[in-house]
Amino acid sequence: MTTSTLVSAKGGAGTQRRPLRNFIDGEFVDGGLPFEIRNPATGAVHAVAYEADATMIDSAVAAGRRCVDGEWGQMPLVRRRALLAQVAARIEERFDEFLEAEIADTGKPRSMAAHLDIPRGAANFRIFADFIASLPDEAFEMDTPDGGRAINYSVRKPLGVVGVISPWNLPLLLMTWKVAPAMACGNAVVVKPSEETPSTTTLLAEVMNEVGIPAGAFNVVHGFGPGSAGEMITSHPGIRAITFTGETRTGAAIMRSAAATTKALSFELGGKNPAIVFADADFDAAVAGLARAAFLNTGQVCLAPERIYVERPIFDRFVAAMKEKAEALRPGLPDADGTDLGPLISEEHRQKVLEYYRLAIEEGATLVTGGGVPALEGLAAGGYFVEPTIWTGLPQNARVTREEIFGPCCHIAPFDSEEEAIGLANDTDYGLASSVWTRDLSRAHRVGRAMNVGISWVNSWFLRDLRTAFGGAKQSGFGREGGAHSIAFYSEITNICIKV
Ligand code: NAD
Repeated sequence: MTTSTLVSAKGGAGTQRRPLRNFIDGEFVDGGLPFEIRNPATGAVHAVAYEADATMIDSAVAAGRRCVDGEWGQMPLVRRRALLAQVAARIEERFDEFLEAEIADTGKPRSMAAHLDIPRGAANFRIFADFIASLPDEAFEMDTPDGGRAINYSVRKPLGVVGVISPWNLPLLLMTWKVAPAMACGNAVVVKPSEETPSTTTLLAEVMNEVGIPAGAFNVVHGFGPGSAGEMITSHPGIRAITFTGETRTGAAIMRSAAATTKALSFELGGKNPAIVFADADFDAAVAGLARAAFLNTGQVCLAPERIYVERPIFDRFVAAMKEKAEALRPGLPDADGTDLGPLISEEHRQKVLEYYRLAIEEGATLVTGGGVPALEGLAAGGYFVEPTIWTGLPQNARVTREEIFGPCCHIAPFDSEEEAIGLANDTDYGLASSVWTRDLSRAHRVGRAMNVGISWVNSWFLRDLRTAFGGAKQSGFGREGGAHSIAFYSEITNICIKV
């Protein structure tokens, strides 16, 4: 067996290009067309991945099937759980390598990746290894027509081979959020990480071998969407389910492709998330919470509020306070002193965000702050940075207030009544998350419940108990993952009915 060597890479110019090969049936395999991976903080190429072809996808699916039918699927739960806990422990042991790989792919500030991406990536394995042991199965006793009794009980079995297609914004965290419960349920996975951020998924393949996960249970195929590894997974007859996080229109394409083989689908898609700030809210907490929410990860968080509605008496003060927070953010290299704002993921994405910055003005916005590209020197001058940006004054039907931008920006609008705020917040095709700020307990419950979203926060944002349901309403997705919801999605349930 060969292994890839992921050497430490700070992502600067002249850094060695790491080879990121496909991982199939427990081995890194050669072959596939190479494509370059850039560090978005500098624009420098730091790795080369190899696009999997149809033969590799077939091999990965076949290996997965053998593993589900064999050692992995048949393994006693106690042993499978122990192995997944070891995956978590090994990620923690190789923490610095995961950190360097994630920073090189995303350019995000080291502090963020160190506190969120890598620890949560490891935690996903530990949590689902624990959780699956404590989940009750269903049992129902019933009367029978002949006056006797029957008992029903359900058992959970693996679905088979699960395709995992993940995005670039929180690469390790969002990928393991799917891989960990899928594997805990005894499935094999074929993972296609985003073509922008394949490094930590490749490193995870090494970890799987190191702790003794059976060959074929975890496979990694690199590549793109249409006509590439992504589409090949979604149309493959040997794959029983697709779990996908990404854009809504990609979800629509995957649905079409998966329809012919009637795969189970779980989709976590885009959002245009609202926040509502009432005049009675803890003002400083609301400003701090929503500035973090709007600008964390340079706004590249699916849950970020791009629409903030503020009760009129505190509107001007709130806008001024948010402006101050935005202007205090320091863009720069992941390791530079004081950096708290990373780049966008790619030049292409920067062009998309800048197009919205331009459009906002065309649509009549008042620019409160930002709107352009910061002047940076040194290596960061080649990075894909944009300024944190705030607008006011747009109508509810502007494209900038309706379409997901996925950048460090938000629009702030005033409201006069609770009813109006609820109406404005829910006036969207999306329904992922919301954040309501108030000190009034009854209103907190009332408005929190009135949000047509999958995740409704009150006086908080991004607070996650991994046992709770996570997913989107409307065009933000369908199905829920998290805790028992994940276990339900990744299991085939057989009801056994016994006449006694
Ligand atoms: P994307 O849809 O462009 O890509 C996601 C993944 O899908 C990538 O691996 C890509 O290669 C693959 N892909 C693209 N086209 C495909 C196709 N036709 N068939 C199969 N696979 C295909 O999304 P992105 O730009 O990587 O991520 C940003 C988006 O993800 C935003 O819309 C964001 O809101 C969303 N997102 C949602 C959540 C959530 O939990 N709801 C979390 C994070 C990101």
